[in-house]
Amino acid sequence: MKFVPMIKKFTNKVLDIIFPNDFKCVLCGNDLSDDSTFCDECLNDGIFNKGNRCVKCDMAIKEGNIICDHCKSTKRYFEKCFCPLNYNHQVKKAMLQLKEDNGKYLALPFAKLIVQRLQEENLKFDIIVPVPSHPKVVRRRGYNPALLLANEIGKLTGKPVIVALTKNVLTKFQKNLTYEERQSNLRDSMTLTDKSLIKGKTVLLVDDIITTCATINTCASLLVGAKKIYACAVARTQLDLG
Ligand SMILES: [Zn+2]
Ligand SMILES: [Zn+2]
Repeated sequence: MKFVPMIKKFTNKVLDIIFPNDFKCVLCGNDLSDDSTFCDECLNDGIFNKGNRCVKCDMAIKEGNIICDHCKSTKRYFEKCFCPLNYNHQVKKAMLQLKEDNGKYLALPFAKLIVQRLQEENLKFDIIVPVPSHPKVVRRRGYNPALLLANEIGKLTGKPVIVALTKNVLTKFQKNLTYEERQSNLRDSMTLTDKSLIKGKTVLLVDDIITTCATINTCASLLVGAKKIYACAVARTQLDLG
């Protein structure tokens, strides 16, 4: 080894001892030797949303199928969803932290995963619109996780973040409602602030998790006048293999 690289290596070693790196797995908090986002254990846990998936909602479906039953029978106001991770127990823990436990620092690594996925798909869009949270919920949490993600995606892609949708009514107890009831409840709870913000634009809607697509579909339905609407989220719940 030449002298300069040797000195460099030695200096790095010393620096490591004085300032141990604080690289941790985003999902489980295990120490990492470099700045990779996940530890081997988590990577082995099937965290990535891979395999045969619905062309609309990105949910895992049986091999040979193109679209899931839900997307087949429901009008989708968006072109396609992009969710890099599976909502498994590890991802769930980290998402809960991002949503409820001041896990703001998770927004950047998660946004990087989303952007990576969008680049793989060669997706082009003009503006980023976060799924809105009710002001009361934002006050309680201190932030809207979808907006945090949108801002990070904005910084990574250089595209503007437009808060085009607002949530004016709290929608509670959605679980016990039918899909249609949920949709109509959601529709009444949100407003498009200014049509001109999205007119003729290709929009990337951003949420943290996509479960039934009810929220993202409602948001997309409100963006009247947009040229095209795509959606993305960190994680996708896998409902069935129909
Ligand atoms: Zn881990
Ligand atoms: Zn689908």
